[in-house]
Amino acid sequence: MVLLDGKKTSNDIKDEIKVAVTAMKERGEKVPHLAAVLVGSDGASLTYVGSKVRACEYVGFDSTLVELPDTTAEEELLNTIKGLNENEDIDGFIVQLPLPKHIDEQKVLMAVNPNKDVDGFHPENFGKMALDMESFIPATPFGILQLLERYQVETKGKHTVVIGRSHIVGRPMSILMSQKGPAGNSTVTLTHSHTKNLSEITKQADIIIVALGVPEFLKADMVKEGVVIIDVGISRVPDASKKRGYAIKGDVAFAEVSEKASFITPVPGGVGPMTIAMLLKNTLLARERNA
Ligand code: NAD
Repeated sequence: MVLLDGKKTSNDIKDEIKVAVTAMKERGEKVPHLAAVLVGSDGASLTYVGSKVRACEYVGFDSTLVELPDTTAEEELLNTIKGLNENEDIDGFIVQLPLPKHIDEQKVLMAVNPNKDVDGFHPENFGKMALDMESFIPATPFGILQLLERYQVETKGKHTVVIGRSHIVGRPMSILMSQKGPAGNSTVTLTHSHTKNLSEITKQADIIIVALGVPEFLKADMVKEGVVIIDVGISRVPDASKKRGYAIKGDVAFAEVSEKASFITPVPGGVGPMTIAMLLKNTLLARERNA
């Protein structure tokens, strides 16, 4: 079994970006500038945004964090987005999800200028991605493709089963795995909460990408020998033995499934760190495209 080490691979990618940024500086060019908008004080969101800002510092990007209170009106947030769209110094920005309930998430994502949409959530980018056009690929699916590619996992002609059809992971992943090109050319089955006999389907899979958010959902008796496992899930499970009171669990029962797998991502240290690295990569692409 080979561990798909997202921590190491993401560090490699960050180092490649750092080299590109140093070269930009040496040529006297502007370095990429990423902004993040955080509405409210959700614990997990604060952690994610903090990691994104630190990653920017590491690679030499400029970064701006816009923190707004829970009570921010939708109109106010839309105005903030308008300001970022118009600010020529900002190459790309993200609005950290989830947003408070009184704000229409779709309206907010639609307001982001697609050329600065480094999360790849705007319909224009999603549509372009589906049509093999130049776009920003959402960071988590982009990170998964990179892991598969860099570990030379064969995907061509393989049966890939995706569990979960979210707009940010499952749905784009199902499209990308079926496309022509590296880490593509797979035969894809997209499964979700209405899928019947899920384990009959997963037992036929060469590659399983799990993104549903149920800790240790995928068990060894649901997979075949030699399967490739990509675990996207991140859940906080109460654990008194941990100082912070919880443990991070993926969607895969790692101990038992890893015994049958040929490749597997750990949680933490798999897909999670790749997501941040690919957000940086998209920001670098935004700078290059907007230069
Ligand atoms: P989501 O929470 O929006 O949706 C869950 C999906 O799972 C739905 O499409 C639903 O149909 C499907 N589902 C639920 N129960 C099912 C069942 N019994 N059988 C089959 N399908 C079922 O999904 P999301 O936003 O993609 O998040 C999924 C998990 O991935 C969460 O734990 C989230 O925290 C994590 N996540 C991690 C990263 C990362 O960087 N590693 C990024 C995004 C999301």
